Amino acid sequence: MNDPKHRQDAPEAERNAANFIHPLIDEDNRSGRFGGRVHTRFPPEPNGYLHIGHAKSICLNFGLARRYGGQCNLRFDDTNPTREEGRFVEAIREDVRWLGFDWGGREYFASDYFGQLHDWAVELIRAGKAYVDDLSADAIREYRGTLSEPGRDSPYRNRTVEKNLDLFRRMRAGEFADGERVLRARIDMASGNLNLRDPVLYRILKAPHHRTGDTWCIYPMYDWAHGQSDSIEGVTHSICTLEFEDHRPLYDWFLDALGVHHPQQIEFARLNLTHTVLSKRKLLALVNNGHVAGWDDPRMPTLSGLRRRGVPPQSVHDFCERIGVARANSTVDIALFDHCVRDFMNRAAPRMMAVLRPLKVVIENYPEGRSEEMVAENNPEDPAAGTRTVSFSREIFIEREDFMEDPPKKYFRLAPGAEVRLKHAYIIRCEKVMKGAAGEVVEVLCRYDPESKSGQAQGGRKVKGTLHWVSAAHAVRAEVRLYEHLFTVENPGDEKAHPDFTACLNPRSLEVLTDCRVEPGLARANPGDRFQFLRMGYFAADRDSTEKAPVFNRTVTLRDTWAKIARKG
Ligand code: ATP
Ligand code: MG
Repeated sequence: MNDPKHRQDAPEAERNAANFIHPLIDEDNRSGRFGGRVHTRFPPEPNGYLHIGHAKSICLNFGLARRYGGQCNLRFDDTNPTREEGRFVEAIREDVRWLGFDWGGREYFASDYFGQLHDWAVELIRAGKAYVDDLSADAIREYRGTLSEPGRDSPYRNRTVEKNLDLFRRMRAGEFADGERVLRARIDMASGNLNLRDPVLYRILKAPHHRTGDTWCIYPMYDWAHGQSDSIEGVTHSICTLEFEDHRPLYDWFLDALGVHHPQQIEFARLNLTHTVLSKRKLLALVNNGHVAGWDDPRMPTLSGLRRRGVPPQSVHDFCERIGVARANSTVDIALFDHCVRDFMNRAAPRMMAVLRPLKVVIENYPEGRSEEMVAENNPEDPAAGTRTVSFSREIFIEREDFMEDPPKKYFRLAPGAEVRLKHAYIIRCEKVMKGAAGEVVEVLCRYDPESKSGQAQGGRKVKGTLHWVSAAHAVRAEVRLYEHLFTVENPGDEKAHPDFTACLNPRSLEVLTDCRVEPGLARANPGDRFQFLRMGYFAADRDSTEKAPVFNRTVTLRDTWAKIARKG
């Protein structure tokens, strides 16, 4: 990509291809630049949980390996011992596995390379390309200059190689306090690129590391570790997000100074989503300040949160395919993500009946004590899904919102004198409304038409409205958690528009319904099992769910706002 020919080709490739990286790799394969090899890596820092933005990077890196018959490593960039923890490592593994990717035993840690990185630093010192600096962090910042002003050389910049080797050895031996000295590359304090103004390679930090323990008291900076780690692993295409474009000349400088294998860095635009924050710092604040119940709260954009909400990994793949990979930053409408979830669930999720806010209906002319088994299709989108039976009896529950005492015109649900069909069962007519002391409707009395049974020749009589229902005697009580977007505004991450992003939290992002009634079969759902509750949305059994006390999360509603936008557009 440093090649000007590539730069000219890029805009057209970007317009034509959903993924601008494909033609770049095709060209490398044509020219034999890496011997036809494609080797990528996904390089998380184990300091938090992965989110949907990381999924874009995971699908991209593992996807390229798959597409080109190459390999993709999982590498933990663990250069910062104070913020990193082993528990994040395990959570990251689990999330990548959940997405269906296999790193085939190629799991690495930047900390595996601390020895090599140290030796390479010594090599740079020997070559006069690195020096120990005694300036404080503040002074280094001041000497660095600005975009409009060149930096100034540190008074320690011209130390002899011997002096530098000795000081660096003593840094490593623990002779100095944290922050007392650093090792810097000796590049160019006047460079137009601030990253090239003698960046820090090593700092003193007397902190134990989650993998190397007390072995080291100096730690490599991310910039010193990242490119060399890729090089050590034989990575060919080092894919990262746009913020690293200005770091590329530095990584190139390091690799060339060391004369080692030189991967090609390619930058792409990170994912931004409406109604969502994807900054780790902000997600951490949501968890620490109790705005959500934890990293896997189903309202979180973390992969563990999405998984718990019931989002299928296939929908994440589909979403990443559809958004493509470009070089220009943009924000994706979360309605597209929801659309991908619905699209998969529509094909895969069995239909069930669940009444979320129950209203009792008594069918006066249906014999007491009798019940019948109605045949119900499991998924009209999937002929292989078969049928099940649903018990019908004299007392049923319907959705409170499916009855109105004084309905407007064109209300096709239940109302005094009106007829509706009960899905998979009979047509009923509302005869009478029973009220409580405060005038609230507590029960509806109906009569059914015995000749109207669903699926029977003479049962084909049509009425406008069809309602879902459950038999009162057979249904099981369940808890249902309804989720909405966590933020009311489209751009909660925009710090100019919303200096305090927590002020945009949606107070209605979670509604818990504890008195829902569901088909008895749902009590046997295992955590993670997904369903369509007829007319109510897609749901998944929560990990809190038990046979005695089933709990379901609403994964997504049925209303597809994306399809509407797409039709209009
Ligand atoms: P940090 O600020 O802690 O570095 P990060 O989001 O960059 O946070 P990393 O663990 O460094 O987290 O990210 C691992 C990989 O995922 C990196 O290659 C990074 O570029 C990529 N990534 C992170 N966020 C996004 C995003 N929103 N869209 C696409 N890729 C992302
Ligand atoms: Mg990062």
